[in-house]
Amino acid sequence: MSKGKVKLIDNGLRHDGRKLDELRTIKMEVGILKSANGSALVEYGKTKVIAAVYGPREPQMKFMALPNRATIRCRYHMASFSTHERKSPAPTRREIELSKVIREALEPVILSELYPRTSIDIFIEVINADGGTRTASITAASLALADAGIPMKDLVASVAVGKVDGYLVLDIDEIEDMYGSADMPVAMAPALGRITLLQLNGVLTSEEFIQALNLAKAGIKQIYEIQKETLKRKYLTVKVED
Ligand code: ADP
Repeated sequence: MSKGKVKLIDNGLRHDGRKLDELRTIKMEVGILKSANGSALVEYGKTKVIAAVYGPREPQMKFMALPNRATIRCRYHMASFSTHERKSPAPTRREIELSKVIREALEPVILSELYPRTSIDIFIEVINADGGTRTASITAASLALADAGIPMKDLVASVAVGKVDGYLVLDIDEIEDMYGSADMPVAMAPALGRITLLQLNGVLTSEEFIQALNLAKAGIKQIYEIQKETLKRKYLTVKVED
């Protein structure tokens, strides 16, 4: 089927029954890995990612140490079984690029100057991919950093908006990404009012761009609330267990 010939929106509802401005079912959990200093599991519908944080710790190699702040390292990886067709386990150019943009989306909130000469390592594994893996990864990594007790100015939450059948839609999945005409992932530190990632693949008019950004902000606000609830839930559980 050629792009544009598939009808994905009917009567104001999307192919999976969602409204245009509706997120997929979002699930989050922190502290899922015993060996990591901090960890999180995040699901956006069928997209499922795990983030693990180690550090602040001694850098693996001395030359990585910075005199005035911690070095933040990030590795985004898709498991071979995460996609329909087996993905090669070797890092692809896409994974190398995403590792960089995810790191850059998180760096502005991390108080790395508190830990000079150390390294904070973020590992992200996509367990199941159905669109929006970079945005779910940013949300998960931010939670894992908080779970590791790394001081931050704010959490970072992220979601992608897209243009499908001429409509702007929130939190696009793989089918919508594949057949839509634009895809715009956005990450924000909501309390700081700071956008830390904004990419646009496709074409939007300037009016559509503003509408898309507002749609993303509304989605990010909801995701941010779930992040805070998830962290509070763990804190309260720990308190009860004490
Ligand atoms: P994102 O996952 O952040 O939306 P892309 O726009 O690059 O990033 O990818 C969209 C979706 O396409 C992914 O979530 C995944 O479902 C699918 N995909 C990406 N790379 C591959 C791959 N190498 N093999 C199979 N599916 C892939």
